[in-house]
Amino acid sequence: MAASRTKIVAGNWKMNLDRAGAKALTAAVAARTAEAAGVELVLCPPNVYADVVGAALAAGGSPAHLTLGAQNMLDKPSGAFTGEVSAAMLKDVGCQYVILGHSERRTLFGETDSIVNAKTKAALAAGLRPIVCVGELLEEREAGRTQAVVTTQIQHSLAGLTPADLERVVVAYEPVWAIGTGKVATPQQAQEVHALIRALLAGLSDAGVASRMRIQYGGSVKPDNAADLARQPDIDGALVGGASLKADDFLGIAAAFRSI
Ligand code: PEP
Repeated sequence: MAASRTKIVAGNWKMNLDRAGAKALTAAVAARTAEAAGVELVLCPPNVYADVVGAALAAGGSPAHLTLGAQNMLDKPSGAFTGEVSAAMLKDVGCQYVILGHSERRTLFGETDSIVNAKTKAALAAGLRPIVCVGELLEEREAGRTQAVVTTQIQHSLAGLTPADLERVVVAYEPVWAIGTGKVATPQQAQEVHALIRALLAGLSDAGVASRMRIQYGGSVKPDNAADLARQPDIDGALVGGASLKADDFLGIAAAFRSI
């Protein structure tokens, strides 16, 4: 039942802000979490600022429902992997979540479902909660291939996970044509794919596990379209890019999920 799932709204800051800006945004959100009481909030700064955001959260005594996440990691524990960070390093600076398989990683950096699967397993093994992103390109939607694309991404990205692993995973449905474009999926389009994803998750585990897993929508979510999305039975939160860079907008989106 939708009501039993804690809503989760994550801010993907991407490659934005500087140290001072990261601290200021963290403080601005932390000061107003009451506006989104009951909604789990995750801040995902660039890795280089994870430590500073984590420290700001810890110092501010921020409530347990405001947590730190990362935008990517490597699936290897350590070694000669120039420029990369491991799950254990993210854990070490206080991350609880890590976004994996974001469409920008898939399209700009060649991440395949099998890479996402390896990263998901490594994140889980280190005690991180993965936010695994899936979503179709515009041409795939126009060719009527949305369901096939998302099915393949879910089945391959989450292959080999136990039911207990799956319960620690958050899935983000992000139609690629809606990311950073201002074109949001209609609530009906989103709900249709979210229901498909939940059925696929049940196939990978069972209906009980699937009913407890959170599925976020991402793609041009703003305070003024969040409420309609939040009303959909299988939409359990949002993965927010551009609007997460302003505390007002991020909290406005989270507040829309609070009231559902
Ligand atoms: C994202 O990058 O995950 C995203 C959803 O971006 P935006 O909200 O800017 O579309």
